[in-house]
Amino acid sequence: MTVLRGARERWVRTGGVELCVAELGDPGRPTVVLVHGYPDSKEVWSEVAARLAGRFHVVLYDVRGHGRSTAPRPLRGGFTLEKLTDDFLAVVDAVSPGRPVHLVGHDWGSVQSWEFVTVRRTEGRVASFTSISGPSLDHFGHWIDKRLKRPTPRRVGQLLGQGAKSWYVYLLHTPGLPERAWRGPLGKAWPRLLERFERTPRGAYPTGSLPEDAAHGAWLYRDNVRARLRRPRADAYAHVPVQLVTPLGDVFLSEKLYDELERWVPRLTRRTLNARHWVPRTRPDQLAAWIDDFVTGVEDGRTAPVAGSGRHAERFGGQLVLVTGAGSGIGRATAYAFAEAGARVIAVDRDAEGAARTAGTARLLGAPAAWAETVDVSDERQMEELAERVAAAYGVVDVLVNNAGIGLSGSFFDTTPEDWRKVLDVNLWGVIHGCRLFGGQMAARGQGGHIVNVASAAAYQPSRVLAAYGTSKAAVLMLSECLRAELAGQGIGVSAICPGLVNTNITATARFAGAEAEEELRRQKRAVRLYGLRNYPPEKVADAVLRAVARNEAVVPVTPEARGARVLARVAPGLLRGLARVRPPV
Ligand code: NAD
Repeated sequence: MTVLRGARERWVRTGGVELCVAELGDPGRPTVVLVHGYPDSKEVWSEVAARLAGRFHVVLYDVRGHGRSTAPRPLRGGFTLEKLTDDFLAVVDAVSPGRPVHLVGHDWGSVQSWEFVTVRRTEGRVASFTSISGPSLDHFGHWIDKRLKRPTPRRVGQLLGQGAKSWYVYLLHTPGLPERAWRGPLGKAWPRLLERFERTPRGAYPTGSLPEDAAHGAWLYRDNVRARLRRPRADAYAHVPVQLVTPLGDVFLSEKLYDELERWVPRLTRRTLNARHWVPRTRPDQLAAWIDDFVTGVEDGRTAPVAGSGRHAERFGGQLVLVTGAGSGIGRATAYAFAEAGARVIAVDRDAEGAARTAGTARLLGAPAAWAETVDVSDERQMEELAERVAAAYGVVDVLVNNAGIGLSGSFFDTTPEDWRKVLDVNLWGVIHGCRLFGGQMAARGQGGHIVNVASAAAYQPSRVLAAYGTSKAAVLMLSECLRAELAGQGIGVSAICPGLVNTNITATARFAGAEAEEELRRQKRAVRLYGLRNYPPEKVADAVLRAVARNEAVVPVTPEARGARVLARVAPGLLRGLARVRPPV
């Protein structure tokens, strides 16, 4: 059975085995070779391959002893890295004789690909390498060596951490046990285990060959791991540009393994992903986008991809980010920060000019693409149309920032029902529409994502003049907490950002309920002066937003007064209530 729709198949004979090779896309285009891991067959790549086939000549093969490729006889000694390199060269000779290929490996596919790009005999046959969740055994050997020879408490901790994650490697060395387990209960349970622990979607993967793949593949470990870790090669330098994709939730590999990788890879691009180990199944959109970007960059003569130079480029390069209220203040600064990190940005605001300006500057700052959308977030119909337009034109957003909001100050009895409706419509309903529509698309796609809701310190700090505004923000905070609980199982994070006083335009546009026109103007001017004196820049809030997404933080107070109030709300709420009774200067 094959889940690679439309693939052309051929057989390549090499070193006593026959390899099953599948091809998609136009052979005239640059060739991308996808190498699968353990215990997998080439079908693990089906979703990524389908996404790349429109732009590249995509080649996949079953590693010897896996899928429909035959196994070496005897098995012992038949899976050495040298033999796997022979196989790779035979496949490349068959599918792309005149032109170097772009290599992509996951898990053991990546481990063996490190060999391909660090030995001399493949020079000129590989153009680039994207490594996902599989280190070079040589680099790993040196990593261990360094920690054993020059131990510090941190290094010993790293060794123990990775040692604990490698439990399955010890088991795989036990004679006969893995074979019996995979051909018996483990093989039967594996698809369910993957769904449960890795959150892989249900479907035609894994294929029926799994028990045999896994039994044969145990020799990948036995033939190579001990030997290489004991005597790692001293010259394992990569002779091609490498893109390293590190899933931060990988239960088998510590991200610390790659700390010293620059030593071995002169041209390295790093990417991180909030995901577990089986990313070819759980994050095909993101992987395909990064592979496309990297391969295109190398083909165009750019070593590093266009996307991303800022501090968060590893995490956000190439991602699709939508920010509401992006025409000014915190939203604009957030859009710029994502642009600097190489994200594609959709700037949404009801102020068309402001949104267009933000999109234009975002492109100059490093966003590979940026668009402006004029929408009132409180308008359900407009938001629905926006969500449809975005999905059709740009895809599913990876990060949604519900930031648009308006200010309202005044006593409860001066606040009219109309005032209440306005502030709740924008500050709360705007966030509800965003979460429902864009969060819904994220959940339906099943590849994770993140929602950021900009609340306020007023969400937990009562004030005699912020009944309506504070209520709207408290609702946003609770909505974020509830949604975070509901979406956690789907790899979608939700963060509530709670800034204190930030120097933006909000004071100049806020309404002061109960004041006559002249008095309102005076209060507005005083507020502008006060916030100006406080002078906390929106760029720092933007920084907190990106950090919150990268670390999947739940509630993030920003500014010292917001952090202080958060502590008081917990340890001395009475004090906060007392402060709430003091009439503020504006
Ligand atoms: P800002 O006024 O500088 O920017 C808000 C942007 O949102 C503007 O561009 C505005 O046009 C847009 N907007 C307003 N209503 C909209 C609607 N219905 N549809 C689409 N766009 C709309 O204000 P800011 O300070 O950057 O505020 C951003 C967010 O931060 C708000 O949710 C605000 O409540 C929150 N916040 C601000 C502060 C602060 O001190 N500035 C403190 C805490 C929370």
